[in-house]
Amino acid sequence: MDRLLDRIAEKVYADQRLSADDGLTLLRSRDVSTIGRLADHARRARHGNTTYYNINRHLNYSNICALSCKFCSFYRKKDQDGAYQYSIDDITTQARDAAAAGATEMHIVGGLHPWLEFDYYTDMLRAIRQAAPMMHVKAFTAVEIVHLARISKRPHELDAVLQDLKEAGLGSLPGGGAEVFDDRVHDEVFKGKIRSDQWLEVHETAHRIGLRSNATILYGHIESLEDRVAHLCMLREAQDRAIENDLPGRFQTVIPLPFIPDQSELEHLPGPTGLDDLRMLAVCRLMLDNFPHVKAFWIMQTLALSQLALHWGVDDIDGTVVWYDITKVGGTDTHQEVAATDLRRAVREAGFDPVERDTLYRRVQRDGARWWLAKQPEAVAST
Ligand code: SF4
Repeated sequence: MDRLLDRIAEKVYADQRLSADDGLTLLRSRDVSTIGRLADHARRARHGNTTYYNINRHLNYSNICALSCKFCSFYRKKDQDGAYQYSIDDITTQARDAAAAGATEMHIVGGLHPWLEFDYYTDMLRAIRQAAPMMHVKAFTAVEIVHLARISKRPHELDAVLQDLKEAGLGSLPGGGAEVFDDRVHDEVFKGKIRSDQWLEVHETAHRIGLRSNATILYGHIESLEDRVAHLCMLREAQDRAIENDLPGRFQTVIPLPFIPDQSELEHLPGPTGLDDLRMLAVCRLMLDNFPHVKAFWIMQTLALSQLALHWGVDDIDGTVVWYDITKVGGTDTHQEVAATDLRRAVREAGFDPVERDTLYRRVQRDGARWWLAKQPEAVAST
């Protein structure tokens, strides 16, 4: 055992907050077993044996983007091969199909489209609400929200923009676009994208108007371990502020995303290893003590590693996904689907109890494609 972890273990078992130095020690340690044990303790203290999953659909409405982030293999320029953009009718059809298949959530993100108007986004939300009234729409990263504020000519009125989207049917914000909160990394890899202060401002504004949101960190490219820890500390402080100010919305889940080099401008980098993935998921659980949930995103971490990660602090194994255009691990097919039975089997085999949730972590009961919210104490949603 790495003796440097002794003091950290004492803190974890005493339910004390870890410092930034502790986070760095954990990320530097090769004692992945002990890190896993500590994260598992913290995870079980909060969630016991429960592991969440959901029946969802991802929709990437367009890959046309005004920016060209170096780590991104998704974006295309207007006339480039493979550029696409869905019509509202396409989106309505997908929402209807998803509802008919029993999905509880649509997760919608896309590029920063240079000429679509603000109405496209509100029309999209209204059309989904009409086609699939029970569907929760989790949509638009903070980067897209800032873009929507610009195209609606209200760059300094995030509040009004988010209110308009909420009224049209937006249910919550996903956590993407955070990348790594560091100016050096920002300027080198995703210059043009919003910086950490704006990303955090969008989420705080969403929380103020009662929208919950998630957070991500994209790791394993040119960032340092110090950058990773600083990012997690900034998320933790933002959640502390939301709690102190008793905002109606909060962060629900952190989703650490491993950098996938394939087909990006940073293809020469090796990307993170499986042990780095496990360590990172565990460190998120240990550092983000005020985030209820840590999710492994099987599209990027693979289902096999996500299953293992349930013992490294993860309590959410994501959903059925179906179509995902942003990263295509091991190929070019955007059909990436895991059946709910396979998710449940992976969870059970790991020794945990699978619980289907909706986007807000309320328990779902179902009979085939028909579903309803189980009777449950309100606290379930925030624990
Ligand atoms: S990461 Fe997002 S903003 Fe950057 S190029 Fe890709 S789609 Fe555009």
